[in-house]
Amino acid sequence: MTIPTPNVPESPRTVLVTGGGRGIGRVIADRFEALGDKVAVLDLEPPEPHGHMLSVGADVSDPDSVNAAFDQVEAVLGPVEVLIANAGIIRDGLMIRMSDKDFGAVMRVNLGGAFYCARRAARGMLKLKRGRIVFTGSVVGLYGGNGQVNYSSSKAGLVGLARSITRELGSRHITANVVAPGFSQTKMPETLKPETQAQYLEALPAHYFGTVEDVAAAVEFLASPGAAYI
Ligand code: NAD
Repeated sequence: MTIPTPNVPESPRTVLVTGGGRGIGRVIADRFEALGDKVAVLDLEPPEPHGHMLSVGADVSDPDSVNAAFDQVEAVLGPVEVLIANAGIIRDGLMIRMSDKDFGAVMRVNLGGAFYCARRAARGMLKLKRGRIVFTGSVVGLYGGNGQVNYSSSKAGLVGLARSITRELGSRHITANVVAPGFSQTKMPETLKPETQAQYLEALPAHYFGTVEDVAAAVEFLASPGAAYI
C-alpha cells in the first residue's frame, strides 16, 4: 500500500483572509504576514493598506463579487493556498420575533459566504494539489445562543461544510477546519455584569478569557505543515 505523502508548501504561500479589515481577521492577516506569506485581505470596503498586504473589496454573500475578488488576488499573488473564511455578521433577536431578513442575511454572509469562498479557492488548490481552509465558527455554533438562532445555525453549518469538504478534497492534500472562538475575543467580557462574568469564567476550563491572538495562533497552526492530517 502506498501512503500518500503530504504535498509540502513552498513558502511564501498566498493567504486570503475574508473580513480581514478589522477584528479577528486583521490579527490573523498580520500573523501570516509576519510569517512571510503573501497576504490578501478581503472586506466589504477595501481595508486600509497595511504592510505589504493586498487589499480587496468584495461582498462574500455575492458569488460574483467573490469570484471577481479571487481573480484579482490570484492575478497578483498566484493561487490562494490558504483561505481563512472569517467574515461574519450578527443580527440577534429572539426566534419568535426574528425577521426573515435577519435570518437570511446572517445565513447568506456567515454560511453562504464561506461556501462561495471555499468553492472558488478550491479551484487553485486543486491545481496546486494542496490547500488549507479555515472557517471562523463560534462556540455559539456548538452550544447555541439565546437570541441567536440565525448566528448559531450559520456557525454550526460551517462544521458540516468543513467536514464535507474534507470528504471531497482530502485526498488532494486539502484540509478544512473550523475554529470556534468564544465571546471572550471581544470587549464583551467588560460589558457583562460582574456576577455573569464570574459565571462564565467558572465554566471556562482555563478560568480566564482567551484573546484574539489565541485564535490567530490556532489558525496559524491549522495552516501549517504540522496540521496536514487534521
Ligand atoms: P468584526 O465585525 O470586527 O469583523 C468582521 C469583518 O467582516 C468586518 O470587517 C466586516 O466588514 C466584514 N464583513 C462583514 N460582512 C461581510 C461581507 N458580506 N463581505 C465581506 N466582508 C464582510 O468581527 P470579529 O469580532 O472580528 O469576528 C470575526 C469572525 O469571528 C466572525 O465570523 C465572527 O462571527 C467570529 N467570532 C467572533 C467572536 C468574537 O468574540 N469577536 C466570537 C466568536 C466568533
